Formats: sequence, structure tokens, C-alpha cells
Amino acid sequence: MEWECLSGTDSQAPLSREAWSKACRFHPLSQDQVLHEVKNKVSLAGRPIVLLDLDSTLYQVEPRSYQILKEWARSSESQAFPKVQGAFHRFLESHVGYSVQDTLSQLGIELNHPEGAGSYQSSKQFWSDRFFHNEWLKWDRPYPGAVQYVQALHGLGAQLVYLTGRDEERMREGTVANLARDGFPWGHSSTQLWMKPSKIMNDLVFKKNAAERLHSLGVLIASFENEPHNVAGLQNLYPEAMHVWMDTLCSDHPAPICQGLYRIQSFELF
Ligand SMILES: [Mg+2]
Repeated sequence: MEWECLSGTDSQAPLSREAWSKACRFHPLSQDQVLHEVKNKVSLAGRPIVLLDLDSTLYQVEPRSYQILKEWARSSESQAFPKVQGAFHRFLESHVGYSVQDTLSQLGIELNHPEGAGSYQSSKQFWSDRFFHNEWLKWDRPYPGAVQYVQALHGLGAQLVYLTGRDEERMREGTVANLARDGFPWGHSSTQLWMKPSKIMNDLVFKKNAAERLHSLGVLIASFENEPHNVAGLQNLYPEAMHVWMDTLCSDHPAPICQGLYRIQSFELF
């Protein structure tokens, strides 16, 4: 099966983030209504499953990038880029975007200038060497309301599958420590953490293969995911479930246009 969405718009080319969110038709429900509807469906189902992505879905990862890039600006590796180092004196967590490139642009660094281009290569490498490692995960923060909401789903009988593109070898220890630290349901027979067995595995392929295994656990009621191509793929595999796009940060990886997704920006109930 193709990892695309059942949208009836197959003839349209996949779109990147801005264009994708504008082209998709989302259910016209408020965040409150979406979150209540998922709870309602969980409470009514037998063997309900909820799929939960971690990065930029349950967890805000900007603090992790912020700490890494601050460290780069203090390191010997940034010394070749004095103007960029100067720009980092006003670096705030709110400047952090999806990518290092987005972040440097937010700081006003022109990437088409030699110093800007060189600083991008250097800081991107520094960031990549650290972002996917246990020791930096401690900086992640759950989005407002996420812990309480996931606890409520678990209390209603949902089996929780944390499905993440993080890999086992470099990130399991820190991931588990954070789930426990933050109070997400964890350590029960009804909670599972599915991670990539290898860092070189493609995220999309991993999530597709993992999602196909859900059939043996029960009935998928809802998924929560920030990446358009992943949420589109989940909708394709499980068209009867609610697929909730977490509208936070996402990649520019093209995704097929979808109809009937749900959309939230946090887990706060009002
Ligand atoms: Mg994510």
C-alpha cells in the first residue's frame, strides 16, 4: 500500500508545509472539540489504541536546539564567524525554527554570504552531532496540557503507543527518562514505546511498518502527529480513525493533500 492519504485528490502533486496546510480540508472542530471527541471515542471502544508522536507533538524540542546552538556559539568552532557570533548575543529560544537554517534566518544571518554560509555548515554539523543523543533530550518540554491529556486517555482505557522517529541506540534512555520525569503514562502493559531500530532507517518507512502492526493490538482510535507526510500516511492506513495534525513545527517534506484530518495547536482544554 502506498504511504499516502485517501483524499480523492491523487492527481495533485504533494505540497510542502505552508501550501499543504492551506490546501487540506480539516474538520471544522475547535481544539476543545477534537480533544473531547478523541476521549469520547476511546471511552466507547473495545481495546482502543492512541498513537502518539513525540518530537513537536507531545514534546517541544526548541529548547533542545536552543541549548545546542548556544553551545556552538560559545565553542571554538564558531570563532571563524565573528559577525554570526555577534548575532548570537541576542539569541532567544523564540528564534528557533524547524531547522538550523530557519533559526539562523530568524537571527537575521544571511546564508548567501560567505560567513553566513560557512556558519550554517558549521552550526548544522554541531547541531546534528548532538540533537539525536540522550544527553540533550533533558531540555525537551511537554506542550501545555499534553501530560494531563495523555493521562486522561490512559485512564479511560486507551493503550498508548508512543511512535517516534528517534532511534533506540542513541535516544531510548533519554526518551524513557523524560516520559517518567514528566508524568506521561509509562511502564504499564498498556504503554509502549516504538523507536527506530537503526538511525539510518528512514522515518517514514519505519512509521509505516510500525503502524501496520497496530492491528494486532486493538482498534486505532486516534493518532497525533506533526509531520504532514506521516499524518497523511496514517490516514491512508486507518481511514476510520481520527488523525490529528499537531500544528507546531514541521519539515518541508512534501505531503499529499488530505481531507478530513483534525487540527490542534496544543493539548490545552478550555
Ligand atoms: Mg514529530
